[in-house]
Amino acid sequence: MTIYNLGSINADYFYHLPHLPKPGETLAATDMSRGLGGKGANMSVAAARAGAHVCHIGSVGQDGGWAVERMMEYGVDTRHIVTADVATGNAVIMVDDAGENAIVLLPGANHAIGKNVIGAALAEASPNDTLLIQNETNNQAYAARLGRDMGMRVAYAAAPFDAAKVQEVLPYLEYLFLNEVEAEQLHQATGQNPASLPVSKVFVTMGAKGCVLFDNDAGQTFEYPALPVKAVDTTGAGDTFTGYVLAALGRGMPMAQAIALATRAGALMVMREGTADAIPDLKDVQDARF
Ligand code: ADP
Repeated sequence: MTIYNLGSINADYFYHLPHLPKPGETLAATDMSRGLGGKGANMSVAAARAGAHVCHIGSVGQDGGWAVERMMEYGVDTRHIVTADVATGNAVIMVDDAGENAIVLLPGANHAIGKNVIGAALAEASPNDTLLIQNETNNQAYAARLGRDMGMRVAYAAAPFDAAKVQEVLPYLEYLFLNEVEAEQLHQATGQNPASLPVSKVFVTMGAKGCVLFDNDAGQTFEYPALPVKAVDTTGAGDTFTGYVLAALGRGMPMAQAIALATRAGALMVMREGTADAIPDLKDVQDARF
């Protein structure tokens, strides 16, 4: 089983500042670091670190070779990441001494993924493979329809939330991942609850409160508590959870076990600083004592 992930790849630039700049202010940063990020890259790295074969479908600019190489080092199949004539997607993340942040996001090459690139990647897929999509690329609905027509299992993480984009892909989904804020936004936009969506399984994650699975095929709801850990950075927890669940289900693990594994991975992730580079591997997740 392969997970084909149509997803964003970002360069995350972290600038540490004494305070967030005001309009017109020029401010010296005390420190700067660059990391691999983007919801798509995070999920690909998580699923690969969980032991799945992950084929990432995406795009970077001429300046993005390092990001592709890093994904490869984490075990992601990068053959279907193309190079576009625009900048690699990037985020400028300003963090002040109090931990407050402000983020500027440039989609860049993430919005330059041609249908031909998606078609070429999915031409290699088979019906027992999974297609994963999020909202940081273009052409999600095209990919979702193609994947569903091919009999693939289509999974979607509705982030960053966009009501129109969710509605567009909803008919093609088997799995939907939402955090509790996104579940509320979906409710406001459509009047629908997770249990009333036309999707087989809806996962609603709730940070330190764990997650709820709405098994709409069975008409049942299951709750899974989170592990009691001291969180230092919750960025990427949901992406890690999603990647781990899909990897575990892909190798035939029962749902409850897959969620338990992903819950451990999410807990470890929040104990670490960073995004894709901080995602724990399967051995760390299995060996961790909470
Ligand atoms: P997102 O990053 O999309 O907002 P969540 O914050 O809901 O996602 O986190 C996803 C999962 O990661 C949770 O369901 C939980 O298992 C784990 N997790 C997140 N935050 C914590 C935390 N503070 N303590 C323990 N586990 C956490």
